[in-house]
Amino acid sequence: MDKRDYYEVLGVDRSASEDEIKKAYRKLALKYHPDRNPGDKDAEDKFKEAAEAYDVLSDADKRAKYDQFGHNMGPQGFPGGGGAGFGGFGGGRAWTMEDIFSQFGDIFGGHGDMGGFGSAGAYGSGRRARKPQRRGTDLRITIKMTLAEIATGVEKTLKIPTFVKDPTCNGTGAKDGTAFSTCPTCHGTGSVIREVQSIFGPAQSQTVCPTCQGEGKIISEKCPHCHGEGVRKEDVTVSFRIPAGVNGGDVLTLQGRGNAAIHGGVNGDLLVVIEEVKHPELIRDGNDVIYNLMLDIPTAVLGGSVEVPTLTGRARLKIAPGTQPGKVLRLRGKGIPSGDGGAPGDELVNVMVYIPETINEAEKKAFESMQDQPNMKPSESVKSRIFSKLRHIFD
Ligand SMILES: [Zn+2]
Ligand SMILES: [Zn+2]
Repeated sequence: MDKRDYYEVLGVDRSASEDEIKKAYRKLALKYHPDRNPGDKDAEDKFKEAAEAYDVLSDADKRAKYDQFGHNMGPQGFPGGGGAGFGGFGGGRAWTMEDIFSQFGDIFGGHGDMGGFGSAGAYGSGRRARKPQRRGTDLRITIKMTLAEIATGVEKTLKIPTFVKDPTCNGTGAKDGTAFSTCPTCHGTGSVIREVQSIFGPAQSQTVCPTCQGEGKIISEKCPHCHGEGVRKEDVTVSFRIPAGVNGGDVLTLQGRGNAAIHGGVNGDLLVVIEEVKHPELIRDGNDVIYNLMLDIPTAVLGGSVEVPTLTGRARLKIAPGTQPGKVLRLRGKGIPSGDGGAPGDELVNVMVYIPETINEAEKKAFESMQDQPNMKPSESVKSRIFSKLRHIFD
């Protein structure tokens, strides 16, 4: 269906002032209001169409763009326009009645209520001021983990100071859980009616009672154990498992293990933040670990075996004769398990060769005796062969 021109929808001409647009919308909103046209689909469509037109034309910026481009804005149009051009609500979806009442809440008397229209219709009585759901605050702890612990995962049992529901008043904050009296502000209804100005003139809006926060009752005598808060602080023992393969900065959320809400409600969460402790010798690279091995010259030349640290202890590694610096030896599966159940990482042993910084006379003679040996000098073909093998490190 082709979209009607917004000016045509509101029945104003293109030079209409802000005030004229507002008046035109108000007239249409009254005419097609769902409370006045119960069950009338056509009226509902007209009501939505008018709201959409008003949304654009009442906003100087949107109106200017609409004047320039019409309905056919690209995806980069403007907020609320979405890919379909103008008139969507949040991401281009069609307006719903809920959107209209929340967007133009002030026009209908605040808080998304029907305000001045009373409470007879589907959008009146159904939209009572609601008691807000209370939620306790989240707790946040940091767990330091070594690479070895990250490789295996760990079980933790901790005592965490947490606000818990006070059992003596059952979390109500009232003495014995019963010392309440009716709220004097709202007389027990939990909500109050407020006069607001809307484009329809003065309107009434229902809001949560500020005295009792919607409870309808107030504490007449406070619980002596929690001083009326309904919660008290205790060391709560919490056990949980941190799986293998986590990363520093990861956050595990233990739902409902945070603080209890004051005067009842839902608990907050316990957030466990992972901090990675650096390994003294191994460097983490994703799920692999890297070890820089300093090989002595004779072992590099003659071959042998060396011991290297691993995440779980130590491992012996065979060194082939003629091992070059820059060679990477791989200990398969000795890295960190992948969190998603895939193959574990490896330990990569990066070979370096230690050149002694000082030598004694005998060593000096030994090196001097080798210095002019042609076998000590790499030929062009040896160099290119070794370099081509090392190249994978830089790939
Ligand atoms: Zn009250
Ligand atoms: Zn208490």
